[in-house]
Amino acid sequence: MQKFLLSCLALCLFACQSQSQTPTQKESPSTTVTEKTPEQWQTCLTPEQYRILREKGTERAFTGKYYDHHEEGTYTCAGCGHKLFASTHKFDSGTGWPSYWTPHTQYAVKTNTDKTHGMERVEVVCGKCDGHLGHVFDDGPAPTGMRYCINSASLNFEPATKTEKEKKKK
Ligand SMILES: [Zn+2]
Repeated sequence: MQKFLLSCLALCLFACQSQSQTPTQKESPSTTVTEKTPEQWQTCLTPEQYRILREKGTERAFTGKYYDHHEEGTYTCAGCGHKLFASTHKFDSGTGWPSYWTPHTQYAVKTNTDKTHGMERVEVVCGKCDGHLGHVFDDGPAPTGMRYCINSASLNFEPATKTEKEKKKK
């Protein structure tokens, strides 16, 4: 009996210790920020991606690779791979930039007030690495009425797998 109690005590202690050493990771922006120096970003991004993601640039309309892209899948951050938008939320805005009426999840992107260029706009940044993605406007389609106007250079695309496509059909 004593042996049993002792091993219970040991187990409890071990459980407490391992819990304090490995805090549970929740998917929230505050715990998953990817921090890199400008030099580190420059090595993993193209000059165009760096100019847009890290220096808040904008690609010319109708020049990006995703404004006229209609495949099924997920658009991820070109900087950190965070899932940002789903192809099912993409619509043809006619602006020359890929446009979505909602982000992938509530933690996919963050927004900031942008008062540059004599306008007040809402900037959209990656929820994980704070990379600049584009702006959000309130002239989008139903059901949200929002238009997330995003630079193709800030995005990568992961095509849906066969099983994901079949699931949707069912
Ligand atoms: Zn990112």
